[in-house]
Amino acid sequence: MATYRDYYEILGVNRNASEKEIKSAYRKLARKHHPDLYTGTEKQAAEEKFKEINEAYEVLSDPEKRAKYDRLGANWRNGQEWQPPPDMGDFHFYSSGDGEYGYSSGFSDFFEMLFGRGGAAGNRAGAWQVNIRGHDVESELPLTLEEAYRGGEKTIQLTTREICTACHGNGFRDAGICHSCGGTGSTAGSKTLKVKIPPGIQHGTRIRLKGQGGEGLAGGERGDLYLKINILPHSRFTLRGDDLESEVTITPDQAVLGDKITVATLDGPVTVTIPPMMRHGKKLRLRGKGWPRKDGSRGDQYIRVILDLPNHLSEAEKELYKRLADMRAS
Ligand SMILES: [Zn+2]
Repeated sequence: MATYRDYYEILGVNRNASEKEIKSAYRKLARKHHPDLYTGTEKQAAEEKFKEINEAYEVLSDPEKRAKYDRLGANWRNGQEWQPPPDMGDFHFYSSGDGEYGYSSGFSDFFEMLFGRGGAAGNRAGAWQVNIRGHDVESELPLTLEEAYRGGEKTIQLTTREICTACHGNGFRDAGICHSCGGTGSTAGSKTLKVKIPPGIQHGTRIRLKGQGGEGLAGGERGDLYLKINILPHSRFTLRGDDLESEVTITPDQAVLGDKITVATLDGPVTVTIPPMMRHGKKLRLRGKGWPRKDGSRGDQYIRVILDLPNHLSEAEKELYKRLADMRAS
């Protein structure tokens, strides 16, 4: 005993609907009842409905299955208790456990009695593929240090592979190779995406864009797109962990006497005090001027001091250096 399923009623098409009408009705319903669109108890109901739609499509989209199903006649009602009519002796029905495969197919008892448990497997591309999710795609997203620090919205252009509309991803058409896609089942496309970058994102972080990956088959869910953040080298700053490194050049008199100088930080220029007797290669630390951390604090900026001569020394300056040298010699 099983429950009769009116596959035409489930898809909302009449009994002489064309393949095209069936496909279009199925696609609309599969989209509307896709379980991913629902949560909680609604999700469960959607899953049931989704299964029912897939099963109906599995049968009605396959000419052999549809013919077999049609032979049961048009007098049965959806939900009616049903068993194989005794006068259909030439008609093979499967009993439970009679399937080609040992696992449950996820189809109804009614379906299994008609087509066996393996009825859906090994099928030509059809409803069986409906749950095949598109694959995940990873791509790199280069950002300047400033972009990564500030965050915000970034527009990116992606080349994509879309399921071929001519063959619906099968690669075959009219018993030959599909000419629209050369048999690959997909065609090249491009799309523009706006990506939100959180401020202070780390190098190597992967941003997940749900549903922006490969297209699913026959109405299946799309895969996700992962964007791996690549922070580009910067002319002034080097990022090491949470700390930033930069350099500043001072003259010998600044090094000896100390000075106030202006240095660049990610937040703009700040004034830094060089203490007297500053040696070449020493580092000044600017607390909290480094990279943002997850806990809201920030790393530090280290400024390496480079001691260099001014480009030009006047004669008077050179004279003073001579006097310095004489004083040191005596
Ligand atoms: Zn194609």
